[in-house]
Amino acid sequence: KTRVRFAPSPTGPLHIGGVRTALYNYLFSKQQNGDFILRIEDTDSTRFVPGAEAYIQEAFDWLGLPYDESPAKGGKFGPYRQSERKDIYKKYVHKLLDEGKAYIAFDTPQELEAKRNEIPNFQYDAATRLQMRNSLTLPTEEVKKLIDNGTQYVVRIKIEPRIDITVNDLIRGEVVINSSVLDDKVIYKSADELPTYHLANVVDDHLMEITHVIRGEEWLPSAPLHVWLYRSFGWEDTMPEFAHLPLLLKPEGNGKLSKRDGDRLGFPVFPLEWKDRQSGETSSGYRESGYLPQAVVNFLALLGWNPGTEQEIFSLDELVTAFSFERCSKSGAKFDFEKAKWFNHKYIQETSNELLAEMLQPVLAEKNIPHDKNYAANVIGLVKERVNFVKELWDQASFFFIAPASYDEKTVRKRWKKESPVQLTELTNVLQGIDDFSSENQENIVKQWIEEKSYPLGNIMNAFRLAVVGESKGPHMFDITSLLGKQETIGRLTTAIK
Ligand code: GLU
Repeated sequence: KTRVRFAPSPTGPLHIGGVRTALYNYLFSKQQNGDFILRIEDTDSTRFVPGAEAYIQEAFDWLGLPYDESPAKGGKFGPYRQSERKDIYKKYVHKLLDEGKAYIAFDTPQELEAKRNEIPNFQYDAATRLQMRNSLTLPTEEVKKLIDNGTQYVVRIKIEPRIDITVNDLIRGEVVINSSVLDDKVIYKSADELPTYHLANVVDDHLMEITHVIRGEEWLPSAPLHVWLYRSFGWEDTMPEFAHLPLLLKPEGNGKLSKRDGDRLGFPVFPLEWKDRQSGETSSGYRESGYLPQAVVNFLALLGWNPGTEQEIFSLDELVTAFSFERCSKSGAKFDFEKAKWFNHKYIQETSNELLAEMLQPVLAEKNIPHDKNYAANVIGLVKERVNFVKELWDQASFFFIAPASYDEKTVRKRWKKESPVQLTELTNVLQGIDDFSSENQENIVKQWIEEKSYPLGNIMNAFRLAVVGESKGPHMFDITSLLGKQETIGRLTTAIK
């Protein structure tokens, strides 16, 4: 069974690149009728940020990408938080030590620093390890004594030199690396009794029966080490397949997309708003900026993958069906802020007026506007094609709820003629006589009257709009008045004429 995992470290808010990684994991696993797992990689206690895990969960709830197994949901491969799996890792570290595939090293930071100064481009590996203070160079008795005395140590993986390591990547093909370039990475630290990322990641992927490791390109350099670890454990046969996803680049294409690019362009790079505990600084999120989760999912799906057709709008189900690694690009995907807005616009058009009315409801409540669901939904039906974000609805629709308290000066100068009061008074009488106040019927009758009187159509309609809306914007005039109703329309005309 296909099993994939998204394995964030709770070191801060989830970056949009992380969401893209999770999304591709989700799409692939669902296409294969497999499982989608959330594992929290919190073994680096120095970088742990309280609240980050809850944030990650909430973000996926909002995006509508449910996990089959997670810290919150549980599952038969748990626990899903690495900090709760200490004993498991210890067991595997011991296995490697016992088999001579890893060793204990006592070098202090000072000693390592001194070595680095002594040897240019020093790396702890087959060429240097015999000059260091570790269980390969010290007598067994002494190693035991040091440990018993409480000396801190690390465990390093022992990489044998001159061996070709092949990483088969579903996007990049075969990547071959010679083991001589790798260093003996630290896989465990006695100080906090925790493994490092590399060991925990490999052990968990094995124990959780992960079949595909789908993650960002920044982890590609670590993949040979991971392959080495699988070999060292004798798990090569069940080693997962790898897919390293292209980076998300700045809109200009120069370098990795960062939080600062979001700030610079007034654009969110996090799914939800995030408040930094230390600086107190708030970074806006997609949710708070008025993005619909489906729009975010759709546009992220196309950052690094393409369907090979012109289709751009995809439901989640359609994405599940269409996704493939063959159509993932090897090069970075430029983040297109304008396109993201375009997607949101499209999804707003797809969203029912009733649902949008519910989203508008808090704004109405805040302004103490009595909220009639039907009315609000009808209003939204008229204005939604003009907005990219839910929060812009109020700007476009406010005059449906509140009569203009003043009139836009520029429009008055341009559109309010000296004959306007007389003409609008006549118009008021015409409207007064209309029983069927539907848009079409009003339009027929009013236009007929204008024709009979040979009034300039533009003059009348401009002044009419100014009186009802307060400025020169808005949808079709008679759609507005038909929704406002006869009484309200005439009321507004009367006020304007005065
Ligand atoms: N914990 C790693 C991260 O934060 C996971 C990398 C992986 O998926 O192997 O990105």
